[in-house]
Amino acid sequence: MSGNVFVVSAPSGAGKTSLVRALLEADPQVKLSVSYTTRPPRPGEVDGVHYHFVSVERFLEMLNRGDFLESAQVYGNYYGTSQRWIEEQLAAGTDILLEIDWQGAQQIRRLMPQAVSIFILPPSLEALRARLNGRGQDPEEVIERRLAAAREDMSHVGEFDYVIINDDFATASLDLQAVVRAKRLRVEAQLVRHAALLKDLLG
Ligand code: GDP
Ligand code: ADP
Ligand code: 5GP
Repeated sequence: MSGNVFVVSAPSGAGKTSLVRALLEADPQVKLSVSYTTRPPRPGEVDGVHYHFVSVERFLEMLNRGDFLESAQVYGNYYGTSQRWIEEQLAAGTDILLEIDWQGAQQIRRLMPQAVSIFILPPSLEALRARLNGRGQDPEEVIERRLAAAREDMSHVGEFDYVIINDDFATASLDLQAVVRAKRLRVEAQLVRHAALLKDLLG
């Protein structure tokens, strides 16, 4: 049985990375796709863990070779999802999560209509600004650029299957876990997973 695909998007600073990290800790069955990016690493970011950090030349080479399932330019940098990794995981039946922007989410929806997409919203614009500043890992001009893009990012919320407001972190984290659990309980998956039980029950 093929694994489930979850797509999580949000304006920068809404808490997407923190919520995804909490989900991965609570639910070891979900694996995170590590994107390729031309953005410079933030303090503490590790190559191969948070991103595969590559030069623009290398990124474009990979793009031309068709290595990316989807790719986009976000806030002035390139980002892309490895096609091969995704194929391998899904073939093995693993549930995977893509932390990508709305442009990437659109591409995945076209390629994989069964994917479940989730948009994270901040409780207010003030909170978004405070979180971007509080994270303290981006230069001032980068923060301004991301804040300016937030409205455009958020205007795509209606394209997603689920919306989570990240006000109280614990609540939002449980909301994200609930979406993942509900998708696993879909009848088409359950009938395959519990074929023996059903045979028993129904004769
Ligand atoms: P943050 O997640 O907003 O703190 O910042 P990042 O620099 O990690 O990500 C920047 C933007 O690129 C976000 O909108 C991500 O969702 C998006 N992004 C990250 N990886 C990918 C990817 O592989 N493909 C696409 N299309 N977008 C990505
Ligand atoms: P994103 O990946 O969407 O850019 P992050 O997960 O890096 O966002 O979160 C941005 C900042 O906001 C981080 O410093 C994080 O600790 C903080 N944060 C995330 N969720 C909440 C929340 N519910 N309440 C307060 N601060 C939060
Ligand atoms: P950051 O630079 O703050 O890590 O990420 C900025 C934005 O890029 C985030 O919205 C993040 O989700 C998005 N992003 C990260 N990786 C990818 C990717 O592989 N594809 C797409 N489309 N967006 C990505």
